[in-house]
Amino acid sequence: MTSTTYNLWTIGCQMNEADALCAAALLESSGFRPVPRAGDAGLLLLNTCVVRQQAEDKIYSRLTYVAELKQKNPALVVALMGCLVGKNPREFEKLRERFPFVDLFLPPSDLAPLREFLRARGIASPGPTGADDLPPPPLPDSMTGRAIVAHLPVVLGCSHACTYCVIPYRRGGERSRPSAEILAEAEKLVARGVREIILLGQIVDRYGLDRPGEIHLPELLRRIAALPGLARVRFLTSHPRWITADLIAAVASVPGLCPYFEIPVQAGADAVLAAMRRGYAAADYEALIAKVRAAIPHAGISTDVIVGFPGETAAHFDDSLALMRRVDPDMIRIAKYSPRPLTYSARHLPDDVPEAEKERRRVAMEAQLRARLTDKNAPLLGQTVEILVETIEKTGRRHGRTPDYKPVFVDGSAAAPGDLIRARITWAGPFSLIAEAL
Ligand code: SF4
Repeated sequence: MTSTTYNLWTIGCQMNEADALCAAALLESSGFRPVPRAGDAGLLLLNTCVVRQQAEDKIYSRLTYVAELKQKNPALVVALMGCLVGKNPREFEKLRERFPFVDLFLPPSDLAPLREFLRARGIASPGPTGADDLPPPPLPDSMTGRAIVAHLPVVLGCSHACTYCVIPYRRGGERSRPSAEILAEAEKLVARGVREIILLGQIVDRYGLDRPGEIHLPELLRRIAALPGLARVRFLTSHPRWITADLIAAVASVPGLCPYFEIPVQAGADAVLAAMRRGYAAADYEALIAKVRAAIPHAGISTDVIVGFPGETAAHFDDSLALMRRVDPDMIRIAKYSPRPLTYSARHLPDDVPEAEKERRRVAMEAQLRARLTDKNAPLLGQTVEILVETIEKTGRRHGRTPDYKPVFVDGSAAAPGDLIRARITWAGPFSLIAEAL
């Protein structure tokens, strides 16, 4: 390899994004610099997601392009990381056969192969910090635009094994990271100018339960929120079964801990929830959201729904629509079911909802959401909100979010990224707001 330039391509969830930032941080602390075009890089890092077929298809099309680049430039180093690689060494062999132009395979949240690769070439890199080989911060210089908000993984993997989900097979079983390590990383992030930290876990509420003697999520949040210089803390993703009264109380009372919950429900019919093995009924979900809202009336609630799960009838889907009307979330991420290799549903449940019907359900759910959010956000007009400025648009508008995670564009502000400002809402759409700085 002659060039110490790299290009990062990443898709997927916030956990994947955090992994990509760790890899980029490792490369940059080892002397690499980022380039925006893959064709100009000496090392290509592709961070993959296989949680849906659509994401997997994107990877294959990117790999076709990368194969052409490698043909033109055989010195190019190609590193494939993330959920396509998974944790099973037998899978690596299959991938090696299928993509012989890939030089390095990095399992999710594991940079050991990249570190080893650098070492073999005499390039020094900072050592691992824990059992999972995550590199230390700081965040890469090239990503200063994102450095106001940083994702910090606290629980890796998942042991819940919902029948449709490939994550336990790709990211392994649940492992909480030591709180001392997390707090040290959080301190470094704050010293670097990060103003908001989002703690990540597939079931983040379970933080510490697998580590005897460890603190749990509410206490971890309290300690991180107390770091001087940090404006905001959030956590995601929650599972309805694991949100505790102590966690809700912490969100209600700890300054800086944002009133925002991401709690996927996935379906509104109990038969579908049971087939998904989610571990709760629709009424449990409704009761939980009522409890959250009773304690924190202004909490932002976001959820996920899968449409077209095997066996989901039109009536089951109507139950999902009805549940969403009753629960009235502030955002729904809607996904069409696609069978994922190795999962129980892919092996045992026929994918029996036709694609056109899945699309009809997705569109219907989205239309209901759009209509509801249009009405729900309208009363925000004229209200004053607090915004953490994250970026400055080309037009000079500031962009940031409210504590309950609504995206806002702010006119008339000279604030810098990282500033907390107050602004009055002048336009309220279903998915974003416009405000005038005060
Ligand atoms: S809780 Fe279920 S959906 Fe979430 S990561 Fe674990 S297995 Fe997947």
